[in-house]
Amino acid sequence: MIIGSHVSMSGPDFVLGSVEEALGYGANALMLYTGAPQNTRRKPTTELKIPEAKARMAEAGLPMEHLIVHAPYIINPANSVKEEVMDLARTFLIEETRRTAEIGASYMVLHPGSFTTTDLATGIQTAAAQFNAIADDLAPGVTICLETMAGKGSEIGYQLEQLAELLSKVTHPEQFGICLDTCHMNDAGYDVTDFDAVLDAIDHTLGLSRLKVIHLNDSKNPRGARKDRHENIGFGTIGFEALHAVAVNERTAMIPKILETPWVAGHAPYGIEIEQLRTGSFSRDLLTELGHD
Ligand SMILES: [Zn+2]
Repeated sequence: MIIGSHVSMSGPDFVLGSVEEALGYGANALMLYTGAPQNTRRKPTTELKIPEAKARMAEAGLPMEHLIVHAPYIINPANSVKEEVMDLARTFLIEETRRTAEIGASYMVLHPGSFTTTDLATGIQTAAAQFNAIADDLAPGVTICLETMAGKGSEIGYQLEQLAELLSKVTHPEQFGICLDTCHMNDAGYDVTDFDAVLDAIDHTLGLSRLKVIHLNDSKNPRGARKDRHENIGFGTIGFEALHAVAVNERTAMIPKILETPWVAGHAPYGIEIEQLRTGSFSRDLLTELGHD
């Protein structure tokens, strides 16, 4: 099982610290933001202890493909309303793929964006045009993994057909993959408890080979709520059994699964959640003892 979580990436050890944090959870994969997820200020990659991080991963036997980068969620490729938002999306994505390549990661997860005051079709068209405008400037060897969204607000990409339509409009489809988020798919209306059916749907619309990353999260909301509020594994509406079935599905055995579940009373839950998913046995007590309701 290739499993890890979102980890922090901050001083003094930066990416090396991220790797150490993941290893502390018993993870063999990790996902980091190259800076704060809500802003675009970024340190030069020369300060991020990247060679040390790569050496630590090699020492621990983790291939670099198990390190995932997530682009900040303020980047909105589907916005066609504000010129400065459009400019930022293009310039930041070029730089972010270069940082991703320098870190040594192959996959950069990106939210496809929100259409704001336009409409869904315009949002999809805009995102494709934005990607096409920078296709030649993106770092080679980095796959942008468009994430399946919950459909809250004016998000695009909450149905697989929308992502397929977006990819049908890009000039360099080989630059793109998909990141499946179980909470988002549940909230968008998909039945994650029948994961093989979800994989079949991905195969029919996008091709299963596009699937590069799985975000493994429970959901606070019922299927179809279009909310996007992550819950700890086994504490939400998807449930432990279904999420364990995702984690052990043979068709996605080689795909990193990344937990983005909430911290519990100031404690990272990831070591506990990873252990439970590995063993297949769930006990609420381990997180309720930390302070979960
Ligand atoms: Zn995301």
